[in-house]
Amino acid sequence: MDVRQRPSKPIAAADSSGKLKAKHSPSTLKYYVEEDPSLKVPASLYFVNASVICAFFTLLYYLLSRWREKIRSASPLHVLSAPELAALLAFAASSVYLLGFFGVEFFQSLLLRPSSDIWADDCEEEKVVSVVAEGVSQKSPCGQALDDETLKLEFDPVKPAAPKAKAVETEKWDEPIGLTEEDEEVIASVVAGTTPSYSLEKKLGDCRRAAAVRREALQRMTGKSLAGLPLEGFDYESILGQCCEMPVGYVQIPVGIAGPLVLDGQKYSVPMATTEGCLVASLNRGCKAIALSGGASSVVLRDGMTRAPVVRFSSAKRAAELKFYLESPENFEALSSVFNSSSRFARLQSIKCAIAGKNLYLRFSCSTGDAMGMNMVSKGVQNVMNFLEKDFPDMDVMGISGNYCSDKKPAAVNWIEGRGKSVVCEAVIKGDMVRKVLKTSVNALVELNMLKNLTGSAMAGALGGFNAQASNIVSAIYIATGQDPAQNVESSHCITMMEAINDGQDLHISVTMPSIEVGTVGGGTQLASQSACLNLLGVKGANREAPGSNSRLLATVVAGSVLAAELSLMSAIAAGHLVQSHMKYNRSNKDVSKASP
Ligand code: ADP
Repeated sequence: MDVRQRPSKPIAAADSSGKLKAKHSPSTLKYYVEEDPSLKVPASLYFVNASVICAFFTLLYYLLSRWREKIRSASPLHVLSAPELAALLAFAASSVYLLGFFGVEFFQSLLLRPSSDIWADDCEEEKVVSVVAEGVSQKSPCGQALDDETLKLEFDPVKPAAPKAKAVETEKWDEPIGLTEEDEEVIASVVAGTTPSYSLEKKLGDCRRAAAVRREALQRMTGKSLAGLPLEGFDYESILGQCCEMPVGYVQIPVGIAGPLVLDGQKYSVPMATTEGCLVASLNRGCKAIALSGGASSVVLRDGMTRAPVVRFSSAKRAAELKFYLESPENFEALSSVFNSSSRFARLQSIKCAIAGKNLYLRFSCSTGDAMGMNMVSKGVQNVMNFLEKDFPDMDVMGISGNYCSDKKPAAVNWIEGRGKSVVCEAVIKGDMVRKVLKTSVNALVELNMLKNLTGSAMAGALGGFNAQASNIVSAIYIATGQDPAQNVESSHCITMMEAINDGQDLHISVTMPSIEVGTVGGGTQLASQSACLNLLGVKGANREAPGSNSRLLATVVAGSVLAAELSLMSAIAAGHLVQSHMKYNRSNKDVSKASP
């Protein structure tokens, strides 16, 4: 795209040449070519250029063919006829013209080409400015943080930047509506690096305005458009200090509804935020088969969030002493009262210790009411660590989390011990429904489950992955209901079992999920869209009568939905329909890249 077509407001004045304008302060390294009608190339010039190029190649062809003729006939090369002499002169003239017109810019571009560095590949399309300043060639990388300290250090805003700069190739973008003159000043100072982007909320006292200013500054610095990423329609106050820093907009993800899921005698409409075609339809079909067979039932086996600090002693013996102390039933009461004082809802359940030499890992487990509980358990653990320092002054707390928790990493400890809510969910699917709704047979499903979910996963060395698509469902419900999507890692641990029952007539299916980490308060759950989805499920916010029952109910809905989705996907694979349906619903010929918000 030609930068000259970019119509957005220039900030600085033209330089002496009138061609280049500093868009922002010198320290930003960004220059844009000003829109200038005089710079437009007239049509007649194109015509002249085209004629000279044609003449150049015609003459070249003529001279070369004459040269060949002379070599063949052994005539002297330096003896020229009048047409040959004229052609030679015309060829020289056209060469001079073309070199003068295109050559200078070509050589300049070679000389001004930015040095290659680790960003070069990533930024090739971005045509980021290269500024030659005080003999230093610098390049602003794509995606570079607005508050990049290196920029501030190396380019003193007071010193003028080098005059030569290559124009940034920019895209057109929609400026946020309602930017005032004062906003323009703030944008300029963010771009110049004098106002840190992260301080905008505090400086302006208006979260929406801060997002608008940051967004515009980002577009100007990167030359990249954020059109398509909406700014309006979001409550930026609601995320201040808790969900997302330095917002510039929000990503839209469609929410589909599957169901009703008939679970423990209740009907649930399951919200799923996803862009994977087939997923909602697949869950919907599984729900239908379950509902027509009388519904599914679930049991919460355990409910406890974990956090495991790592401490170090000078000897393994001392580490072992603390292990015995923490695991002794006599000390539990004292430890739990210290732990529980951190919150009305945190209740210590156990401390499981693992030793690695002089290092001890203390896996605290506690109930957390309706909160997913990471903050809560961390506060309780901190209290206990402070308390232990009195009796174990030689204990060195190396980290409040030592990965034996284990949060957002695949780990056998979660698969075996559980984390969050451990749920088992089952259903008996009538043979009729297997045939009519799922288009397969009980035997085919049982055999495929054994070969794929059990043996196949064992062959692959799976860790908690004895299922077909648990993570699809977990992720979609987590995003819709404001859970932490990164906890999909362990929350998707699931073993799917299938068995023929009632003399092979019907199918017994179950999913066992030991580490579903969900909450209905805290984190993203209180945001408007997410809490609407929780409301749909009847689990919005804290349950005042029985704290923890909302989050446990949500965990059973997750497990019930996984059960339905396992049933549907396994049936599609057994019936050989998987590829067909994905080609139909998950592959679009439409060019959706231009879809407007
Ligand atoms: P998390 O521990 O999941 O990160 P937070 O600590 O951010 O969650 O949110 C839990 C907050 O909600 C705590 O301040 C807690 O006191 C409050 N809260 C109110 N009602 C409940 C409830 N029923 N269960 C758990 N926490 C609750």
